[in-house]
Amino acid sequence: MSQNGSCWDRRNQPLPTSDGRLDNFSNPSLVSLSDSRKLCTSPKIDHKPENYDDLQLEFSPFLFSSLEQYLPPDMLDAPRDAKVQYMKAILYRYSPESERTRVQRHKEYKQRIILNYPPLHKEIYTIHAENFFTPSFLKAIRDNTEESFRSVIAEPSTGIYTFEMLQPQFCEMLVSEVDHFERWVHETKCRIMRPNTMNHYGAVLDDLGMETMLDKLMNDYIIPLARVFFAGVGGPTLDSHHGFVVEYGIHRDTELGLHVDDSEVTLNICLGKQFTEGQLFFRGVRCDEHVNTQPLSEEIFDYSHVPGRAVLHNGRHRHGARATTSGQRINLILWCRSSSFREMKKYLKDFSSWCGECRRKKKERERLSIAATKQELLKRES
Ligand SMILES: [Zn+2]
Repeated sequence: MSQNGSCWDRRNQPLPTSDGRLDNFSNPSLVSLSDSRKLCTSPKIDHKPENYDDLQLEFSPFLFSSLEQYLPPDMLDAPRDAKVQYMKAILYRYSPESERTRVQRHKEYKQRIILNYPPLHKEIYTIHAENFFTPSFLKAIRDNTEESFRSVIAEPSTGIYTFEMLQPQFCEMLVSEVDHFERWVHETKCRIMRPNTMNHYGAVLDDLGMETMLDKLMNDYIIPLARVFFAGVGGPTLDSHHGFVVEYGIHRDTELGLHVDDSEVTLNICLGKQFTEGQLFFRGVRCDEHVNTQPLSEEIFDYSHVPGRAVLHNGRHRHGARATTSGQRINLILWCRSSSFREMKKYLKDFSSWCGECRRKKKERERLSIAATKQELLKRES
């Protein structure tokens, strides 16, 4: 966009992007490229920042208080409103309008639910380990050794771990809670935000007020397993999650095409109810570059869901769901993410420790190099 002065044109004449929205860079009311406002590199430690809690702002009031010490000297004692405008202009450069609007809408949506939705089973909003988990799972987690995990976990195909995890009563309560929520959404004519771009039914449990419970589920019950089984793909450093319920069957989503998850580690637990078919099919782990390459025969694996039973796999493990041909299948999904692993991945090119195609290519390079060395030795001998 910076070739031959076109930068100037784009700034002054908003051009639609391919999806019809206005390009944020070209909207002069949003970000002026000639804006000279900037912060200082070191803070003025003895400056006491103002409190911004009472203002309706698009960014956290705490962020404004924290930034204030970095304002240029002539701004430090300016009126609070002037400082807000100054800092807002800087923050806008880092957060495009569409993203801010999305975040704000989602915040309002969650707030509306928290304030108005009457939970059906309050007891599932905080973890009660004995009521949630099967005794065998709980014992393995409490023993916290690879041996104890292996005693209750099966690995029917490389990198796919399955185990009994949830009590039937908990599964029933969670299913009826989601049912109850969907009825409430319908009755109050509230618009529901679906779990992801591929599922058109189900609900995000974090929005329902289960964020803290799911955080604890990830920290205390999934990270111990991920530390052992997903050590090389961010398992030990999982630090955020997206938790939701998906529904398959007649009048629901029927199947789900091959895809990878937006997660480092995915926990997928069948909650019930009665259903036929609907197997998970796997096609090997791939990095971004190799996501569309052919699977090897040993990477092809089908798994049949059992209520209460969990599957734990790498988020980059390509998978899909076969059609649920009768009944209703409901699954709890927890996408667990590691921000430090994602950051580190940006600087790496070879993922042969987990990507099947990177590994195949590396082996091929090694094979060729050995063959060339042998050829060279033979030549010298003769
Ligand atoms: Zn790869």
